[in-house]
Amino acid sequence: MKKPYYIDFPQEHIEGQMHKYRCAHCKVETTAINGSLEGHLPTCAYRIKLEHTGYEASGCSVKPVSSMADDVD
Ligand SMILES: [Zn+2]
Repeated sequence: MKKPYYIDFPQEHIEGQMHKYRCAHCKVETTAINGSLEGHLPTCAYRIKLEHTGYEASGCSVKPVSSMADDVD
């Protein structure tokens, strides 16, 4: 299971550029990331964290990976 959009990463405003934001970890612009995990650099702490957990739910409802095997007979 994957989230359709990965937008819960820490963002910071790009100085001097109105309405432009970037990932606080890898400094890639949010417009370049475009809501996808692959938009972050492979070294991005946010991307690494999500890749290591399989994916991540939106903040408060984290499910264990084992629940994914539910529909196996
Ligand atoms: Zn990033």
